[in-house]
Amino acid sequence: MNFWQIIVRLWPFVRPHHILVTASLFLTLIGAVAAQVNPIVLRYTVDTVDSLLSQGIHAQEATRLLVFISAVLFGKELVNILVKYGQSMVGENLRIQLSSALSQFAIERILTYRYAFFAGDENATGKLQTRIDRGAESLTMFVKNIFVDLLPLFANAILALVLMFTANFYVGLVASIITPVYFLLSWRQAGLLKGVRRGLRSLREEKTNGLFNIIESIIVIKSFVREEYERDKQYRLQQNLIDAQLKQRKTNYLFDALKTFIEQVGVVLIIILTAYFVLEEQMTIGAIMFHIMLFNNVSAPIRQLHRIYDQMNEAMTYAEGFFEILDADDAIEETGELVVEGLKGEFELREVSFIYPNGTQALWNVNMTIPAGSTVAFVGLSGAGKSTLLNLLCKFYQPTSGQILLDGKDLSAYDTHLLRRKIGLVLQKNHIFRGSIEENIRYGYMRATKEEVIAATKKAYLHEQVERLPNGYESEAQSLSGGQQQRIAIARLFLKDPPVIFLDEPTASLDAIATEQIKNSLDAIKENRTVVVISHSISQIIDSDLIYVLKEGRVVEIGTHAELYDRKGTYTEIFNASARSLNLDKIAQTLDAD
Ligand code: ADP
Repeated sequence: MNFWQIIVRLWPFVRPHHILVTASLFLTLIGAVAAQVNPIVLRYTVDTVDSLLSQGIHAQEATRLLVFISAVLFGKELVNILVKYGQSMVGENLRIQLSSALSQFAIERILTYRYAFFAGDENATGKLQTRIDRGAESLTMFVKNIFVDLLPLFANAILALVLMFTANFYVGLVASIITPVYFLLSWRQAGLLKGVRRGLRSLREEKTNGLFNIIESIIVIKSFVREEYERDKQYRLQQNLIDAQLKQRKTNYLFDALKTFIEQVGVVLIIILTAYFVLEEQMTIGAIMFHIMLFNNVSAPIRQLHRIYDQMNEAMTYAEGFFEILDADDAIEETGELVVEGLKGEFELREVSFIYPNGTQALWNVNMTIPAGSTVAFVGLSGAGKSTLLNLLCKFYQPTSGQILLDGKDLSAYDTHLLRRKIGLVLQKNHIFRGSIEENIRYGYMRATKEEVIAATKKAYLHEQVERLPNGYESEAQSLSGGQQQRIAIARLFLKDPPVIFLDEPTASLDAIATEQIKNSLDAIKENRTVVVISHSISQIIDSDLIYVLKEGRVVEIGTHAELYDRKGTYTEIFNASARSLNLDKIAQTLDAD
C-alpha cells in the first residue's frame, strides 16, 4: 500500500474527528509562522544595532530596542509552547481515538467471519492478533506522525523557503538546490535501513521468546541434557542481533555525517552569497543571520525525514496485513432468510462431499438421514470425518458438493444465527472463558435467572462442587479441572435447552463416576430432541436409535446396534476392540464374583 492508499482507507476513521484535524491544521499554520519570527527579529536587531552604532548610540533607543525584541521573542515562545502543547494534545487525542476505532472495527469485522476463516493456518490465533495489533498501532502512529511531525515540519520549511525567495531570488535558489540533495541522502539512508529496524525488532522478540521457552521447557531441556544446544542457539541469536545493530548504527553515523556536511555547504554558500550582496549594498548586514536561520528551518525537517520515512514505511507494511483482514469479504458468514419457530430437527444429507480449504478431502458422497426426535451416533476411527459432519450440520462449513436439508429445506436457506440458537453443541474440549463460573454457564442463555443457572448446574452434577468452592459461583472458571469445565459446557447446554443437540465425545475427559452422572443427565435431555452423538463410549453408542459407521470420509454401515453387530463389518471390529480395551472378561468375572 502506498501513502495515498492508506490515507484514503483511514479517512472514514479520521472523518468523525474533523474538528481535531482542523484544529491541528490551524495550529500547524500558527506554528510555522511562529518559527519564522526568530530570523525576522534577528535581522531587525542586527540592522537596528548596526544603524545605532553608525549613528552614535542613544541609550533610550537601545533600551526600547531591547525591550521590544525581548517582548516579541518571549511572546513568540509563549505562542510556540501553546502550539506545541496543542499539537501534541490534538495528535495524541487523534491517535487514541483512532486506535480504539480501528481495533473495535477489526473486532466487529472478524466476528462476522465464518469459522473457516479462523481455522486456516494463516489466521492462527497468535498471527491474527499480531496482525491486528501491529496494524492498528502502526496506522495510528502514521496518522500521529502526519499531524505532529510531517505537516508542521514541512509547513515550516515551505514558509521559510518562500521567505528566502522573497528576500532574494538567488539565496532562495541555493536553498532549493541544496534541499533535493539533502532529501536524496535522507531517502537513501531510509532505503538502506529499510527492514533493518523490523529485523531488529523480530530478533529482539525471538530473543525474548527464546528465554521464555527455556524457562517454560526447563524440565525437558534438563532431562535431555540439551543445555549446550540451547546455549548455542541463544548465542547465534545474540550474534545476529549484534550484526544488525552495528549495521544500523554504521549507516546512521555515515549518513548523518554526510548530511551535516551538505548542510554546511549550504550554510557556507548562503553566507558567501549574502555577504556579496551586503558588500554590494543590496542587502543590510542583518540578512546574513536572517538567511542562515531560514535555511536552518528548511533543512531541519529533511534531517528528520529518514526517521519519518522509516515509520511511514513500517505503517505501510503492517497496514497491508491489517486491511487484508478487514477486506476478507469472502470470509463473511453466509446466512439465509429462513426463520423457523417450531423446528422439528430432521436432517438429510444428499451426496455430500467436503474438502477443507487446505485441500484435505474429509467427506465423500455422504447420504444420511437423521430423523427428528431420535438419537443418532456417528462411529468410526479417528480421522473418519465425524467432527467434520457436525461442522457441516452447524453451518460452520458449506458442503463442497451435495446438499444438506433441515426439515426439508436447504440448510443454507436458514438464518444462520437463528439456526444456531436452536442447536446445542458440546465438544470434547469446550472453551471456558476467563470469568466466573456463573458467567460461563450463563453464556448458554444470557437472560437466565440465578435459579435457572443453578437448576442447569444441578443437572450437570456440578452444583454441589461449586457450592463447596470458597467463592461459589463467583470462582474463576478456568481454574476448574478439565472434568468440571466439561460439566460447565453441559450446564450451558441445559440452560440453552435447544431442540437439536450435537455431542462430540462429551464425556471423554470425565472420570468414571462423572461419566455415569452426565450420561444420566444427557439421557434425560435427549427426550423428544434430535441428538447426534460422536462417542467412543460403547454405552452411549448402544443406546442410540440409529448408528452411522464412517470410514475414511464415507458412510460404510447404517443400522441399530443389533443389526450392525450381526453384520460383522467395521462396526463389529470397532465394537470388539473397544470391548477388549475395557477388559470386559475380567470386569465380568469381578462383577460375577460380587
Ligand atoms: P474425526 O472426527 O472422525 O476424528 P475429523 O472430521 O476431525 O475426523 O477429520 C476428518 C479428516 O479431515 C481428517 O483427515 C483430518 O485430518 C481432516 N481435518 C479435520 N479438520 C481439518 C481442518 N480444520 N483443516 C484441514 N483438515 C482437517
